[in-house]
Amino acid sequence: MDNLDYVRTNIKFDNTYFRELSGFYSPVNPIHVPDPKLICFNNILGDKFDLSSKYFDTPEGAQLFSGNIKPDGAQTLSQVYAGHQFGGYSPQLGDGRAVLLGEIFDKEGNRFDLQLKGSGRTPYSRGGDGKAAVGPVLREYIISEAMNALKIPSTRSLAAVSTGEQVYREKMLPGAVLTRVASSHIRVGTFQYIASLGDKKKLKKMADYAINRHFKDIWGDNNPYLQFLKEVSDKQASLIAKWMNIGFIHGVMNTDNMSISGETIDYGPCAFMDSYLSSRVFSSIDTGGRYAFKNQPFVGQWNIARLAETLLPLIDEDLEKAISKATEVVEKFIVSYDKYWLDGMRGKLGINNKLSEDHSLATEFLEILETNKLDFTKSFLIVNEEGSESFLNSVNNDMRAVDWFQKLNRRKEKNLNDKNKELVNPIFIPRNHLVEEVIAKAYDGELEPLKKLVEILNNPYELSNNLECFANPPEVINESYKTFCGT
Ligand code: AMP
Ligand code: MG
Repeated sequence: MDNLDYVRTNIKFDNTYFRELSGFYSPVNPIHVPDPKLICFNNILGDKFDLSSKYFDTPEGAQLFSGNIKPDGAQTLSQVYAGHQFGGYSPQLGDGRAVLLGEIFDKEGNRFDLQLKGSGRTPYSRGGDGKAAVGPVLREYIISEAMNALKIPSTRSLAAVSTGEQVYREKMLPGAVLTRVASSHIRVGTFQYIASLGDKKKLKKMADYAINRHFKDIWGDNNPYLQFLKEVSDKQASLIAKWMNIGFIHGVMNTDNMSISGETIDYGPCAFMDSYLSSRVFSSIDTGGRYAFKNQPFVGQWNIARLAETLLPLIDEDLEKAISKATEVVEKFIVSYDKYWLDGMRGKLGINNKLSEDHSLATEFLEILETNKLDFTKSFLIVNEEGSESFLNSVNNDMRAVDWFQKLNRRKEKNLNDKNKELVNPIFIPRNHLVEEVIAKAYDGELEPLKKLVEILNNPYELSNNLECFANPPEVINESYKTFCGT
């Protein structure tokens, strides 16, 4: 068997979305591209699916991951969904530049979507070309894989392929396709689209599918649809707390970019903060700061309220009762978020039990970071590993910080005797200047820096020799740094 046959016939699909949800997608084929070349293949993720780099990190793999050859068993489709974008409702969005190849299994038998992003126009492309440029594809590849290494639920990136054609953004740029792996691509916006059809049977079909796929255990509950809302809400509260614990700004938290499975999805203008500013915004189009760092938990709750509205007919036949039950869940979002966030902050500050004073200790620390424009990631390392002298030097012995450090030390005396310390403060995060630098080099055809950065970010808690420069913020922080949605 030659390798083309091997890659075509050795991915096992079982396509429940295609089989069970007709009407909620359009069958679409990826477009043919002139000259596909692998920029990177994720051999660690490949191994998880038994897709060995020996066969897939090859020119034939590039044909497959560009969409030029369709693997046997794939049933390609683009999903329809709606969504609130920056608060305004768009009744029909959908995969305008993505094609689902189908569902595959990891070695433990867990089901995942395998999707191509940037693979050409679909019935949902509206004015767009359905394509993606190398820069945003690599950005998603780098950051989604870093998120996974940082133990934050995320879609993953299996491969990035350059297509050999140019795409027009503000200028001509080389085109690329990303192969994305996700628990599923069901979004809050998927429910918004289906609810808008006003057909309870269709709504139930999607809800049942999502429950079967992600929350099977809740079928025994006396109100599974209310429980479904609770589960999605809880997963999102936990996810956003993790973002807030690590200094991540998603940048475009539209309801179509919020996954039911609780994974971070749709890496567009996202970025990690260097110096801490609670109102930090990176996205060039987020002029009102709707998706600013500090707003993320509240946007999460707002999005969950939109999901709740769609589920009302399934929650209770009596609309008043349905509203009251759903409202209770939505109201709990922030309570649950706060709990996750504080647990995360305790770990980051070296506190291993729970006391009521912890909340103010954590918020005061962030205020000190903000006043002194300190690096978010490094500050936690300094506090934990280098101790008070080093931290207090970095703030010129600011009185408030001196006082705070004493409080922290007194608080730590009340810690439990527990040696089991999980690593929670990363050394390496995908800092903007590093990401920009390797993407710029990749545009020039130099791929080694990209591969090296991906490797470093894959092991974020351990400092190896000569890698300090990857741990540091840039010498001069560009306060007007902007990120772009462009694909
Ligand atoms: P995003 O905010 O990036 O998640 O995208 C919002 C919507 O725009 C989704 O429906 C995308 O599929 C669509 N979209 C984004 N970029 C393109 C493109 N280049 N061509 C077609 N549709 C696109
Ligand atoms: Mg999106």
